[in-house]
This record gives sequence, structure tokens and C-alpha cells, in this order.
Amino acid sequence: MTPISKLPNLGTTIFTSMSKLAQEHRAINLSQGFPDFSPDKNLLALVTDAIKNDKNPYAPLKGIPKLRETLCKKLNTLYGSQYQAEDNICITAGATQAIFTAISAFVKQDDEVIVFKPAYDCYEPAIELYGGKPVLIEMGAPQYNIDWDEVASRISKKTKMIIINTPHNPSGTVLKKSDLEKLEELTTNTDIIVLSDEVYEHLIFDGKQHQSVARFSNLRERSLITYSFGKTFHVTGWKMGYCVASKNLMKEFLKVHQYNVFCVNHPFQVALNEYLQKEENYLQLPDFYQKKRDFFLRLIKNSKFEFTPCEGTYFQTMSFKNITSEKDTDFAIRLIKEHQLATIPVSVFQKNNNDEHMLRFCFAKKEETLEKAAKIINLL
Ligand code: PMP
Ligand code: GLN
Repeated sequence: MTPISKLPNLGTTIFTSMSKLAQEHRAINLSQGFPDFSPDKNLLALVTDAIKNDKNPYAPLKGIPKLRETLCKKLNTLYGSQYQAEDNICITAGATQAIFTAISAFVKQDDEVIVFKPAYDCYEPAIELYGGKPVLIEMGAPQYNIDWDEVASRISKKTKMIIINTPHNPSGTVLKKSDLEKLEELTTNTDIIVLSDEVYEHLIFDGKQHQSVARFSNLRERSLITYSFGKTFHVTGWKMGYCVASKNLMKEFLKVHQYNVFCVNHPFQVALNEYLQKEENYLQLPDFYQKKRDFFLRLIKNSKFEFTPCEGTYFQTMSFKNITSEKDTDFAIRLIKEHQLATIPVSVFQKNNNDEHMLRFCFAKKEETLEKAAKIINLL
């Protein structure tokens, strides 16, 4: 039989396609965002301990209380919020599940959801699956600023949600305090929900401060925020994350979560809670990744690529307009096949696949990987 597709125009994600192609051509993979180095051995030992100590049955629906308490304390310390373990947090199977569950809990047929482009690729399919309409607002290279006057003009009676992402994938830019203040101003006294994707909260450089929506009391009330342990602790394959939200929003989130997954990996929650007790395990991350960014960019500073050092995330976008006028998708594929270097063409994140001749490079890699990649980049 041929089923009627609910997402007829959707293919396989760019990350899967590029990583597959990279493997086939034995290319250095700076495409999909994952570290190629091992996580802290202490964290791995904590997982082994938790499994041996028989933390193997189901975890509670919202996650183990200790981990929820630890995370609320961390958020409240960092961002001045007042989240409580009982009412405001749920441990999820990565940020992807948290985002999907948040969208499915609130977006109905014909609801509009504002999405800023370029955007990470999991927002729009979830909106469309529930009959919602993504309202796309473009941010232009290289600054990727949000035009808040345009946002004001695109808000309508049907606007159910605004999705923001800071630090931003793929551009590597971060929102400023003034951006969040604008968002707060535009949404106060409305029923608009904010979904804030903050998976790169600790990957922020040059002394910048992460502007979480949790810092802004009026925003916090209308927001769900998603986080990822995969990104923070170099364990993307664990698929562990969490969502925090105001009590009323979390109540609806949990209604979906309980039938979406019921609960997530128990021993990993025990291990993550122990690991989070040492705050240096996350507070040293900006420095750790800034060194990687600077190392990579130093190696390629004389290449023909043009770039402004990213402000956050572990992605660097670069313009290749001095190298070729090819489409970014064609160039990215040719780079893999002819030069054994995999990247992500930024047009896949853009409205109408608008091609600004930019590629995204992931620098969450060992120095030797970055050195090998730089050799290729410098010869282009
Ligand atoms: N949001 C953004 C912006 C991402 O880059 C990613 C990829 N890590 C996710 C969400 C999903 O995170 P996770 O791997 O925890 O599902
Ligand atoms: N977030 C990662 C990236 O942007 C990919 C995650 C995935 O493959 N779904 O590269």
C-alpha cells in the first residue's frame, strides 16, 4: 500500500545524509554536530555504577527527583529564576523530544508559529504535523539579527508560539539582552507561548553572558526552555535532555510526555545528577570550546574562506564566495567527494533554501582532526 504522507515534502535530515556521505568517502566529518573526543571518564564511571547499583527499572515520569532538584538549583543560580523540581521540569530523551513534545502539546490546526530563519531543522516538521503554520522571519548573514519591528508586524490573532534559539545553530550568533527585552515587550499581555531552545547555553565565548528567557520574569511565565546533556557533556549519543516551563505550561507538556515516552533512561539520570554536583563540570565549557574555536580559526586564517568568529555553539559558518560560485549544496557534496571534508550547506536551514554561499563547520573535534581539516581548507 502507499500511505498518505503527513509530511509529503520531507526527506532525510541533512545531518544523516552528510554523515553517511562522509563515511562512504572516508571524509573528515565537520558536518553533523557531535564531538569526536571521549566524555569525562568520571561521568562514564558514574553510569557504570548506576547500572551496577540496579538503577535499571523505570524512572519516575518527570525524571528522578534529585536530578530535577539539582537542575532547578543550577538554573535558579545562573539565571535568577525560581523553578521548582515538583512543578517546572521534566527530563527528556534529548532536546529533540522536548521540542517535539512542547510543540505537540500546544500547536493546533491553523495556529501560527513564528520561526526565525535560518533555523535548526526539527521545529517546522513538528509544527506542520499538528496542522500549524510556520511563519518564517529571515535573519540575514553575517549578523543574523532579528528585526523586532518585522516580528511585531507578523504577530496575528493566530500566533500561538514564537521559537527562539540562542546560542544559535547554525549561525553561531547569540541573542542580546535587548532582544529578549523586545520579545518580552511584544508578548506581555498576550497568550503567545515562547519556546526557547537553549541547548548551547554553556557554549558561549569572549565573556558574553547567555541570555536565557529564564532571566526575564514575564517571559519565564510564558516559556518552555529546552536543554541537552548531549551538547553539554559531549555525549550526544545518550539522547538526554530536559524541558523547564512555568507550572501551567509544564502541566500540559507532561500530558503529552507521559504517552510520548513515559520516562527516560534511569541510570543515566542518576549519573548525570552526581556529575552535576561539581559546577566546574559545566562552568569550564565556554573556555574549553573557545580554545577549540580559536585553534581552528587560527589554522585557517589565511584560507580563502571569510568568517567572523562565532559567538557561541560549536559551529563556525564561513562564506566561500572567494572560492566558487557553485550552490552551497553542490560545493558541500564536492568537498566530501573530491577533498574528503564534510560540512553542512547553510541553505538547508534557510527559507526557500536561500543560498548565501555559506558552509557550517563543527569544531567540536580533537586538535588532530581540526589540523587535518585545516590542511584541506587552506588548499581550496
Ligand atoms: N536544538 C538545537 C539547536 C540543536 O543543535 C540540537 C542538536 N543537538 C538539538 C536541539 C537537539 O538536541 P538533542 O541532541 O539533545 O536532541
Ligand atoms: N544538532 C546537530 C547539528 O546541528 C545534529 C543532531 C542530529 O543529527 N539530529 O549538527
